[in-house]
Amino acid sequence: MALTSKLQMGDSVSDAQFRQFRIFNEVDLKRIRPLLNQCRKEQLKAGDVMLRPEFGNSCMYLLLSGRVAVSLESLDASPLLELGSGECIGEMSVFDGRNPSAYVKAVEPCEVLVIESDTLWLLIDSSHSLCRNLLYFLSNRLRSGNDIVVVSKSREKEQEHAANVDALTGVNNRRWLLDMIETLHGQALLEQMPMAVLMLDVDHFKRFNDTYGHKSGDLVLQMVARTMRKSLRPSDMLARYGGEEFVVLLPRTPAKQARAVAERLRKAVERCQITAEQGQELPSVTISVGVSPLADNETIETAIELADQALYQAKHNGRNRIEIRP
Ligand code: GH3
Ligand code: MG
Ligand code: MG
Repeated sequence: MALTSKLQMGDSVSDAQFRQFRIFNEVDLKRIRPLLNQCRKEQLKAGDVMLRPEFGNSCMYLLLSGRVAVSLESLDASPLLELGSGECIGEMSVFDGRNPSAYVKAVEPCEVLVIESDTLWLLIDSSHSLCRNLLYFLSNRLRSGNDIVVVSKSREKEQEHAANVDALTGVNNRRWLLDMIETLHGQALLEQMPMAVLMLDVDHFKRFNDTYGHKSGDLVLQMVARTMRKSLRPSDMLARYGGEEFVVLLPRTPAKQARAVAERLRKAVERCQITAEQGQELPSVTISVGVSPLADNETIETAIELADQALYQAKHNGRNRIEIRP
């Protein structure tokens, strides 16, 4: 135990003070007074460590005044919660004989009543009400543990979402696409179904940015992504591949159909109206598309490379058009 301040043995706490604490709710204090008098008070300075998982603990602390911080990973980790006067600390490790499950340190000067494990067991034997109150504290611990699990699960989901989704357009990003490709290669199914890859790129986008500003350019990317998403089937996989480049994987799509999808996307983008933040209409943009139906035993990566070559050809042939891979 790392309490550094001086012990004040025999310094008793009055009944009136004990009455303020939940743990003594409906407890016959007279009956347990001799046991309480065996406990000692301690003063903690801000920063004093009460519990740490590396060391065993044989006491329960009743926080008489002050606040302590509880953290899980380390002493310096941002605290999970703070506990104030009337809270019990360390009771779990007394009950199960294991090391504490968290770091607990004083965030301001604190006064604690130290109840040694033998005394705590005798208190439990002597007072049914105190035992009930301890169960109440334990249930609270369990509940706050559950709350933490729920919060950290939802944070995990948020982080996973952020890692896979492009913040500007809201469609999946390149990282997601590469993971998806790996997953698809892991499925034997891929060999049996016709698949196609589209690579799309906004035409003369640098010029657009230079003329109308980067913010208007961002609006264009959002519009292009939205338009494509609306024109695709739910099973089609759209990702922002780079700056103004998108890739679409079209499962169960033979070459002829892939070409039709590419043409549909091209027309949909061409027709789209974009309004700038200030309200003025911006000129519509166009896209060029490289179409690459997967050949037998070909990897998706190879198909993407060939879609890129087809896209290059589309640019070379005048833009706002689609080209099939060589
Ligand atoms: P091409 O028709 O040959 O594709 O010409 P391009 O001008 O579209 O191609 P280039 O590769 O020369 O320029 C791409 C531009 O896209 C340059 C870059 O600033 C812009 N860009 C990339 N990412 C973003 C973005 O997130 N927002 C905006 N506004 N512009 C972006
Ligand atoms: Mg471009
Ligand atoms: Mg480009």
